[in-house]
Amino acid sequence: MTDCAFCKIVSGEFESSKIYEDEFLFAFMDIQPVNKGHILIIPKKHVELIADLDDETSAKMFVIAGKINKALRKSELRLEGLNYFLADGESAGQEVFHTHLHLIPRFKGDGFGLKFPEGYRVNLPKRKELEQIAENIKSNLEN
Ligand SMILES: [Zn+2]
Repeated sequence: MTDCAFCKIVSGEFESSKIYEDEFLFAFMDIQPVNKGHILIIPKKHVELIADLDDETSAKMFVIAGKINKALRKSELRLEGLNYFLADGESAGQEVFHTHLHLIPRFKGDGFGLKFPEGYRVNLPKRKELEQIAENIKSNLEN
């Protein structure tokens, strides 16, 4: 896509600090890191949502995430844990519409985190409701 910042990073038109590259994937340092060592892994092919990506490349993203995870843990960066974060759609917090997986080094007191909605854990769903929702999702699962 011509006006996509991440496509321009893949093509080299935009500068990036590259961590990894192969035929399908590209990983680089986030320029607005939550913590030092914050990395983005993207498919080279422009797709907006992770669901638009082929299964093989999706699987490879997770394999590379695991390798980078290990490298981060061996690095000198401050890291007690890691978040894998993927915002799939604008309502989910996606800001660049070229799917990307965040790897975010975490440590106690870093101030980052997900915010739970008001009433979370107050009105828990009954088993019947969970079963109905599960049935609806399962009926839409593709092989
Ligand atoms: Zn793109």
